[in-house]
Amino acid sequence: MKDDHTATHFDVIIVGAGISGIDAAYHLQRDCPERTFLVIDALESFGGTWLTHKYPGARSDTDLYTFGYSFKPWTGDPIAKAERIRDYMGEVISENALDEHIKYRHRLVEAAWSSDDQTWTLRVDDEAHERRVDLSCEFLWMCQGYYRHEVGYTPDWPGLAEFEGRVVHPQTWPDDLDLSGQEVLVIGSGATAATLLPAIADTCAHVTMLQRSPTYFFSGENRDELADQLRALEVNDEWIHEIVRRNRLAQLKLLTDISLAEPEFAAAELINLVRAELPEGFDVETHFTPRYRPWQQRIAYVPDGDLFKAITSGKASVVTDDIERFSRSGITLKSGEQLRADVVITATGFELSVLGDVHFTIDGNELDLSETVTYRGMMFSGVPNLCWIFGYFRAAWTLRADLVCGYIARMLNYMSANNLHQVVPTLREEDLSEAPLAWISEEQFNPSYLRRSMHLMPKRLAKPEWGHTQDYWLEREVLPTLAPNDDCLQFR
Ligand SMILES: Cc1cc2nc3c(=O)[nH]c(=O)nc-3n(C[C@H](O)[C@H](O)[C@H](O)COP(=O)(O)OP(=O)(O)OC[C@H]3O[C@@H](n4cnc5c(N)ncnc54)[C@H](O)[C@@H]3O)c2cc1C
Repeated sequence: MKDDHTATHFDVIIVGAGISGIDAAYHLQRDCPERTFLVIDALESFGGTWLTHKYPGARSDTDLYTFGYSFKPWTGDPIAKAERIRDYMGEVISENALDEHIKYRHRLVEAAWSSDDQTWTLRVDDEAHERRVDLSCEFLWMCQGYYRHEVGYTPDWPGLAEFEGRVVHPQTWPDDLDLSGQEVLVIGSGATAATLLPAIADTCAHVTMLQRSPTYFFSGENRDELADQLRALEVNDEWIHEIVRRNRLAQLKLLTDISLAEPEFAAAELINLVRAELPEGFDVETHFTPRYRPWQQRIAYVPDGDLFKAITSGKASVVTDDIERFSRSGITLKSGEQLRADVVITATGFELSVLGDVHFTIDGNELDLSETVTYRGMMFSGVPNLCWIFGYFRAAWTLRADLVCGYIARMLNYMSANNLHQVVPTLREEDLSEAPLAWISEEQFNPSYLRRSMHLMPKRLAKPEWGHTQDYWLEREVLPTLAPNDDCLQFR
C-alpha cells in the first residue's frame, strides 16, 4: 500500500459504525456540539453486525424496544430482521446528518499515543483507495464490537478436509448458496442455529441441528400486546417506545431475579415452555435441557415458536452428540451414528477480536490489554484518552451503550470546561494490593468464544469501580450520576 502522510486531526475519532458507533456519534453531536469528530469503519457501510450477517432469517434475539436506542422509537415487531435493524440505524444517521462524519472502508490498524502531544496518531487502511492514511485525535472512542467480522470461528474437526460437500459459516454466507433439495447439517445450538433452522427448513430436503449440548430458549409471539393497545389508542410513537421499553425492562428484571435466586425453578419453567411447543414424546431431556444455569448465557427468544414448528413439521430435527470426525459424505458421531450431508453450516460462533485487532502503543510501549484493569467497563488503567463500548451480554447490548455514551459525553464536557486534555484511569494506592481477577467470572457468563479468549481481555478487581458489571439496574443508577472527576481518573 502507498503511504499518505497528510494527517487530519479531529477532537474525537469513533472506530466502528455499528449500533454502538452510531450511538456514540449521536451523543457526541447532541451533547458535545463543539467537538469535531469522525467515525471510521472497515466495512462498506453502517450496521456492523447487521450488515455482516446475511444468512437466511438473520435477526435479533432480544426485543428492539430495548435493543433500539432510547432516543429513537421502535415501531416494528419486537424481534426484528437484520435489514429492518439497518433501516432503523439508517434513519438515525440521516435524521441527524451523521453521514457526513462517517468514512467507510477505513480500517484502523495502528494507534500510537503521545503524552507530549496528548494525541493519538492513527494509521488507517483506506481500502477503497488502497492507501494508508494518518489521522489523529485527542480522544479515541472504540466501538469495535467483540468479534472479527471477516471470518467466523470453525473448530478444526478431524477429517474436515475430506468432506466433499460444502462447508459454510453463517457469518460469511455465500450469495450463490442454493439449498434446494439438499441435506443440510447445522452445527451449533445458539441463536444463529435456532434462526437458520426454520428459515431454511422449507427449502432444503431436510435440516438437522447437531449440537454438543442444549441451549435455553424463550418462546412467544413476535408482537407486544401493550404496544398494540397503545397504538390502537393513537398514543404517539415516542410514548409507546418509552412505555413498552419500561415494561420489557420490568419483565427482564423479574426473569433475571428469578434466574439468580431460583435457577432450578427458572430452568424448569423455560424447559416447560419449550416442551409445550414440541410434539408429545419429543425427547426434551436430551435436546432442550441445558447443563448450565439460565443466565450464564443469553437466552434467545424464538419468535412465534418457529424453531419448534419446523421440528414438529418433521422438516427439521435435532441431534445431541459429539463429532468424532468428518467423512467424505458427512459426519461420524461419538455414538457411532452417521449423519449424511450435502452442506454443513458451522454456526459455531465467533473469533473474539480485542479492541478491533489494532496495534496500540503508548509513548512507544506496546499495549497489552490483558495487563490493564477495566475502569467500570469503559476505560483501562494506564491507557489515556480511550474508551470502548462493550454492551450487556444478557440484556440488550444497546442499553449499556446508551449509558456509557452519556457518561463519556459528560466526561468530555468536564474536560473542555476545565481546559483538560488528558484522562488516565489510574489504580490508587489502596487498589495496588488487590489481586487482579478474570474480566468476567464464568459464573456470570460463560459462552465458549469468551472462555477461549478470556486471557486476552483486561482484568478486574473485586470493586465496582474496577469491574465490568452486567447489571443494568445498578448501572442505570450509577452511571448517569457518576462524577467525571472520579478519584480513579487522573486528568491534566
Ligand atoms: C446474529 C447476531 C444477533 C445478535 N442479536 C443480538 C440481540 O438481539 N441483542 C443484543 O443485545 N445483542 C445481539 N447480538 C450481539 C451484537 O453483536 C451486539 O449487540 C451489537 O450489534 C454490537 O454492536 P457494536 O456496534 O458494538 O459492534 P458490531 O456490530 O460488531 O460493529 C463493530 C463495527 O466496528 C468495525 N470495526 C471493528 N474493528 C475495526 C477497526 N480496527 N477499524 C475500523 N472498523 C472496525 C466493524 O467493521 C463493525 O462494523 C447479536 C450478534 C449477532 C452476531
